[in-house]
Amino acid sequence: MSSRIVPTTPENIAEAGRLLAAGALVAFPTETVYGLGGDATSDRAVAAIFAAKGRPRFNPLIVHVAEAAEVETLVVADARARRLMARFWPGPLTLVLPRAPRSPASLLASAGLDTLAVRQPDHPVARALLAAAGRPLAAPSANRSGAVSPTTAAHAAELGAAVSLVLDGGPCRVGLESTVVDLSGARPALLRPGGVTPEALEAALGEPLVHAAADPTAPRAPGQLESHYAPGLPVRLNAAAAHPGEALLGFGGTPGATLDLSASGDPVEAAANLFAMLRALDLPEFTGIAVAPIPERGLGLAINDRLRRAAAPRP
Ligand code: AMP
Ligand code: MG
Repeated sequence: MSSRIVPTTPENIAEAGRLLAAGALVAFPTETVYGLGGDATSDRAVAAIFAAKGRPRFNPLIVHVAEAAEVETLVVADARARRLMARFWPGPLTLVLPRAPRSPASLLASAGLDTLAVRQPDHPVARALLAAAGRPLAAPSANRSGAVSPTTAAHAAELGAAVSLVLDGGPCRVGLESTVVDLSGARPALLRPGGVTPEALEAALGEPLVHAAADPTAPRAPGQLESHYAPGLPVRLNAAAAHPGEALLGFGGTPGATLDLSASGDPVEAAANLFAMLRALDLPEFTGIAVAPIPERGLGLAINDRLRRAAAPRP
């Protein structure tokens, strides 16, 4: 079953905004490719994005905003960030910044990291949709994991019934991904080349960029992101019950669970709760976190991938 494809009339954009506000997913054109958008402040909507894409692991998502000023509640923007936003937004530049202390952005959109990627897109439909939704939108490319980049509405519709609506803005210009710059560390780092050139960024910043792909000491090469998040406490997987002192993170109504990822055994709900619950249990009053078995199906694959990393021996 495929999704409903509609033209980008004001009425359809308003309807798409209402659907997003209610937690549904909408595919929409950006200046790069079609994005699969969901409410970036809802763990549930972000989990639905991962489920629709069929990704076997959680990668952090770019959060799109209508106005640059909106990032102030989401992330901690320093002078470097403000300079780049003033110069290059709206446009194909994504900034990775520390999450604000009480950021309303979904922890799942950060894939458990302490940082969040933000961007103000420069496509009239994307901007109108963000304004209609009245909230930031997490939006990776609107294709199943491993499939071709979605440059038309028909590609985006192949995601099927998980997408409530596809706004058809015609074919996208191909090959212009957003440049991703990490400003969460002392030195600005280029994580992914894209539409804004390193030279233009360095001119605006007044300092050189660390090239993450080429520099092994660079903080956050995207491929290594997954190793970054682990709770402070040791994590023990496939636990039938807690040992004395341990917290028990359950699944599907595990008896005696301190918290349950999804009492009904729904992997999407479990993904939505994963990072918030791991953080909630990462307390000095416990000696470790025991995690009940999670079936290897649907988002269970990505949940188990993340949990295995959290449980891996620490250096
Ligand atoms: P896309 O799937 O095209 O939207 O690309 C998202 C890009 O942004 C990927 O290269 C991610 O690794 C990168 N990214 C998103 N959030 C973060 C983050 N918090 N830290 C580092 N890189 C990020
Ligand atoms: Mg992609």
